[in-house]
Amino acid sequence: MRSYGTMLLLIPGPVTTRPEVRAAAGIDIAPWDFDFRDIYAGVRTRLLKIANGGGAHTAIPLPGCGHFIVEAALRTFLPPGGRILVPVTGDYGARMIRLAHEAGRDPVPLAVPANQKAAPEAIAAALDRDPTLTHVGLIQSETGTGIVHDIHAIGDAVRARGRRTIVDAVSAFGALPLDMAAHPEIDAVVFTANKCLEGLPGIAYAIARIDRLEAGAGQAGSWSFDLADIYAQTTTRGDGRPRFTPPAQIVNALHTALEFLEQEGGPDARLARYMANRNALYDGLIGIGLTPYVGPENQGPIVVNVHAPPDPAWHLQKFVDALKQRGVTISNFYNTPTPGFRAGCIGAFGPSEMRGAVAAMDQALNDIGVKTRNGESK
Ligand SMILES: *Cc1c(COP(=O)(O)O)cnc(C)c1O
Repeated sequence: MRSYGTMLLLIPGPVTTRPEVRAAAGIDIAPWDFDFRDIYAGVRTRLLKIANGGGAHTAIPLPGCGHFIVEAALRTFLPPGGRILVPVTGDYGARMIRLAHEAGRDPVPLAVPANQKAAPEAIAAALDRDPTLTHVGLIQSETGTGIVHDIHAIGDAVRARGRRTIVDAVSAFGALPLDMAAHPEIDAVVFTANKCLEGLPGIAYAIARIDRLEAGAGQAGSWSFDLADIYAQTTTRGDGRPRFTPPAQIVNALHTALEFLEQEGGPDARLARYMANRNALYDGLIGIGLTPYVGPENQGPIVVNVHAPPDPAWHLQKFVDALKQRGVTISNFYNTPTPGFRAGCIGAFGPSEMRGAVAAMDQALNDIGVKTRNGESK
């Protein structure tokens, strides 16, 4: 597969997209028009299928970014003061804690070693110690480190204790496995259009249990972020009628992106491509003398973090600028506890583009005068 833009976006969202996806956003659409309603409703149905949601589930759209939908889920499924255990898997685990706290819920952090997967046993033990915890908040793909956590194995332990989960799948949905029908402990899985779905930023979704949406009615404390209210409106006004003005062009682009996902062979095929991208990146980085942050046994297929080279010439922004001159854009920040850089493996491109990007990184390091590359920067 070739990359389509002139610039390869190698960030873990918003990702490199196909020109057809961008073109679908380039037209004027009236969100209340009946032609658009089929698209609006059709996207919801397709997303439900990706989540393996059955009749017990529904897809709820919310305009905005990933933080908005995480906050909306916390508000909708936890009452004010409700207690949620949040394994601190990295920066995004920490963000869920802040979102819950500022929404007036009571998040309880559980420490997880930064370069390890969250252990179901540790979560089970924390739940056993504290019967007032009704929920566990999980990050499926922790974008801060690149580690994928096993929401299904953890979910089994949570369900066995009669508790529930809220899953941030923002950098996972559309590629990583998800089986909501087999996991009734999941109140909601939340995500955006612009990561593994390869759509544009501006719309977020929750796939949620209908019984839990009904049980959560009236407790959000925010009209804007009340998923139960959005659900209630779909039942009274029809599946295709938005509540407030939606980013209709972005939904139209997502509709196109979902057709490409289907053509590719669905989430399993997309995951296989991302794993090939990850392997090209991970092995390539080691090949040019750099040290990935996460060991191969824990490295997920979404984002790879790299230790900063222990060379005085290393300077993240200079590296990012030099790389951009060579047609590749990476993040100009990192979320790991120690300095480094990160590159995404997701988006509309394949391993040959990734090998090209690694060659550009090698040259960009030379451009800024980095000689010593191996080992962890202190
Ligand atoms: C990207 C991301 C978010 C939030 O994204 P925004 O759209 O920037 O608000 C939340 N959680 C995870 C795991 C992410 O990767």
